[in-house]
Amino acid sequence: MKIFIAKTSGFCMGVRRAVEMVLDAPDQHANPIFTYGPLIHNPQVLSLLQSKDITILDEIPDQGSGTVLIRAHGVPPITKQGLKEADFKVIDATCPRVIKVQTIIRKHAKKNYASIIIGDKDHPEVIGLLGYARQKGYVIGTIEELEALPVFENAIIVAQTTQNTQFFDAVKSWAAANHPHYKIFNTICDSTERRQAEVKRLAEAVDAVIVVGGRNSGNTRRLTEIARETGIPAYHIESETDLKAIDLDVLSSARHIGITAGASTPNWIIKKVYRALEALQVKRKNNWRRILFGLQRGLLLTNIYVSLGAGCLSYACSKLQGFSQFFPYVLIAMLYVQSMHILAHLTGNKADQFNDPERASFYEKYKRLLTVLAIAAGGAGLVIAFTLGLFPFLLLLVMSLLGLSYNRILVPKRFISARYRRIRDIPGSKTILIAMAWGVVTALLTPLSLADKPHWITGLIFLWAAGLVFARTAFFDILDMQGDRIVGKETIAILLGEKRSLSLLKIILILLMAALFVLSAFHLISYLGFFLISSPILLLLLLSAYEQGILLPSVKLELLVETNFLLAGAIAFLWALVN
Ligand code: SF4
Repeated sequence: MKIFIAKTSGFCMGVRRAVEMVLDAPDQHANPIFTYGPLIHNPQVLSLLQSKDITILDEIPDQGSGTVLIRAHGVPPITKQGLKEADFKVIDATCPRVIKVQTIIRKHAKKNYASIIIGDKDHPEVIGLLGYARQKGYVIGTIEELEALPVFENAIIVAQTTQNTQFFDAVKSWAAANHPHYKIFNTICDSTERRQAEVKRLAEAVDAVIVVGGRNSGNTRRLTEIARETGIPAYHIESETDLKAIDLDVLSSARHIGITAGASTPNWIIKKVYRALEALQVKRKNNWRRILFGLQRGLLLTNIYVSLGAGCLSYACSKLQGFSQFFPYVLIAMLYVQSMHILAHLTGNKADQFNDPERASFYEKYKRLLTVLAIAAGGAGLVIAFTLGLFPFLLLLVMSLLGLSYNRILVPKRFISARYRRIRDIPGSKTILIAMAWGVVTALLTPLSLADKPHWITGLIFLWAAGLVFARTAFFDILDMQGDRIVGKETIAILLGEKRSLSLLKIILILLMAALFVLSAFHLISYLGFFLISSPILLLLLLSAYEQGILLPSVKLELLVETNFLLAGAIAFLWALVN
């Protein structure tokens, strides 16, 4: 079974903008913060917003305080006015494309035009649009309803931004034939049009389509309808748990399955559905493939694979610098990374609940065992470092304390603004610190402990190793952007946005390749440098495959990214064998 995810699935520009505005609101506007109606139809997001004291305001009280955010759907002008009169500060997160429709209706209503709105009369966007029509607004959902309307001297026809384009075209033809003087505005959002066109193409190329989105979401329902019209089974689900209600025989016998999602579906829900289908696919495979998948997932969840990667990178860096004594240092790098990565998931796993719920429940279930494992790995690393000398011990101790303090409150509230009290509060700190910490234990520990005098090349090898780890970690940040954003993490990917982050990573990887090439060509490091260029090349290929939709966020992708370090280790090992 091959699974495809539509490129247009998930948050549209308007919803993403509203979510970001509400997440920024507590720091920027008067508290408490309310959203006028539920921001999106996702219980997880709503309870998370509630935990941040962002609650839903359903009715306007006589007197209020704090800030109210208007959702992407918009509201009638009278509602906005009412909120202001009740003394709320109003942040208007109405989508700019919805504002455009409101403006068309308002302008024409002023000139006494009737406004015919193609849409769902109970939808908040349509209720908002009607508010601009000055009592001359009419909502129609079928051609019959359109025919039942009186004939207007002057009228405009607009559509709810998420309307079905086919129905809009039918209305257009009807109006051209019956009332050519009606002015027609195609106000269907191009994001909706692209989404609908893509689901049609997708449905024609696969055996079944899964449409993910809220039951009340009109645009999600329309996507399901469009997929069904092509004659294949299409299922509208809210989350991966709804997959149980689907005839699994149909799904598991499908050779190709397409996934798409409505405009207000967070991408972590799409990822969960993908992973559930991936697991279903594995269940159907023979025992060996099932065991292999379980093993891969187990190695990733326990961080054993990551720790093996750190060991391999340490080995490759030692060989690059010509050190033959590597074993204890490789072991220290593995134990340090093992310990720190487990602790990071144990102490800051809120985002995992969105980005990787399987990991979150694994850490919740085996909390004690994993804590013991992390302490034992960290302690063992320190003991080995101590046996090697005071310097490696102190260096590792400092790195361990730095790692442990990442999630801890270090600065009392009275000394600094509440925003930056932990290292993790500093925007982008996670990605940079992980890269630096890996760089120290994999590239610096061995030379600084063994060499009489540090060589300047060591600094470059450190930057190379840290750069590679930075690219790996920032790439994972890109995959986890929406989950991180919702829990308030400010990763590099969130600061720069997906496109710019991907471009930055590509530049870094090209620089890493160039650095190895130049250093090897000028005999500043061994020829091994030429071969190790394949590590950044592999990462670059994975980034491109992700960008082009060839590789989707999955166990496979995570494993391949981590394999990059094992590749470096394997190359260094082979090189050492023949030299
Ligand atoms: S679907 Fe289009 S109009 Fe509606 S909120 Fe999203 S971007 Fe805005």
